[in-house]
Amino acid sequence: MSSREMNHASTTSAPTAEERSALHRIRRKRRVLLAYIAVGLMAIAALASWKRTNRYTVGAFAAWSLGAIVPTLAVVLSRCPRCRRPFHQNDTKGNVFAMACLNCGLRLDWW
Ligand SMILES: [Zn+2]
Repeated sequence: MSSREMNHASTTSAPTAEERSALHRIRRKRRVLLAYIAVGLMAIAALASWKRTNRYTVGAFAAWSLGAIVPTLAVVLSRCPRCRRPFHQNDTKGNVFAMACLNCGLRLDWW
């Protein structure tokens, strides 16, 4: 029996207050990551069209890529408050924008 089957019942029960606040933190980290990607790409695109040389754009992109490691890791390393396993990855796949825990199915959209 896989852990997914064992935890099946947990997908139907509403999260506790503690779980809700942990889910809130996961959503906030994901919003930070999305904002970082969106703002960074727009800023680099603006820089690329403003400066006619690629030197600055390449440097900005390299710095932005390095900086992306932090918010990405914050999301990837988030643990599910219910099953305590990584929220965004299981044995076979990973998805930083998954709407439910990939291990126990606890949904992110409970408020
Ligand atoms: Zn879980």
